[in-house]
Amino acid sequence: MWTEEKTALLRQLWESGLSASEIAKRLGGISRNAVIGKAHRIGLAARPSPIRIRPELPAAAPVFGGRTCAWPIGDPGQADFRFCGDRAVAGRPYCAVHCAQAYRKRDRDAA
Ligand SMILES: [Zn+2]
Repeated sequence: MWTEEKTALLRQLWESGLSASEIAKRLGGISRNAVIGKAHRIGLAARPSPIRIRPELPAAAPVFGGRTCAWPIGDPGQADFRFCGDRAVAGRPYCAVHCAQAYRKRDRDAA
């Protein structure tokens, strides 16, 4: 359970830059996920994990008709959302693989 004391300690450790798993270990009896969930609920700023660094997001969506595939991968609301980025087929917004997918989808939608 989160006592006020534990919550205060969590805030302190979090702001000192300890990893969530390290904080969990110090608080005792709490999982890393519980630490992250609690930190989120009390409004502590999310920090990039020291283990899995989030890849840089593309600065902007590739321009359609440009040279890289603009096929969206993942959920636009999620941090790992990106565009395919492979070399696009000339005159198409997508690479060969995603062109094939796009047209297959269109055929199915039309049927
Ligand atoms: Zn692609």
